Amino acid sequence: MSKPVIATASLAGCFGCHMSVLDIDERILKLIELVDFNKSPINDIKTFTRPCDVGLIEGGCCNTENVEVLRSFRKNCKILVAVGECAVMGGLPAMRNGIPIKECLEEAYLHSVTVAPEDRLIPNDEDLPVILDRVYPLHEVVKIDHFLPGCPPSADIIWEALTALLEGRPLNISYDMLKYD
Ligand code: SF4
Repeated sequence: MSKPVIATASLAGCFGCHMSVLDIDERILKLIELVDFNKSPINDIKTFTRPCDVGLIEGGCCNTENVEVLRSFRKNCKILVAVGECAVMGGLPAMRNGIPIKECLEEAYLHSVTVAPEDRLIPNDEDLPVILDRVYPLHEVVKIDHFLPGCPPSADIIWEALTALLEGRPLNISYDMLKYD
């Protein structure tokens, strides 16, 4: 019998949620027995090669490429899970939401003390993804089936959620399992 298939992606996030997946320690051996991974930075598969059962997404949408990846996950994954505060609410990257985008770009690329005078240039190559007016949580772009809070969600929450979804039982996440480091 074929195993369930998982895909993962990091959008506007810091990869801390992916690190938390790896934090399940020796349970990772059990996970490898239980599932196959498809598109994911964990195995470096860059495009979907088959339909997936569960998609885990870290990070919100801050640019057009994030939106494109998120929509491809919605299309290819039966169950889509927002993993961590950035995916659930926008998180740290959404701190820019109250500031006009022009001001953010000028601060980052022109006025920051870490930018050398000869490097002062706002990137505008046509191949670059376009930055959105604000950072969007995932559920404002596509339908999300489950939300895993935390920054990052603990390895125990991720393990509980994954095994519950794979076994077809309700997620059993208690308040004391939530963690914000
Ligand atoms: S929720 Fe926290 S750990 Fe996860 S991507 Fe956002 S900042 Fe990083």
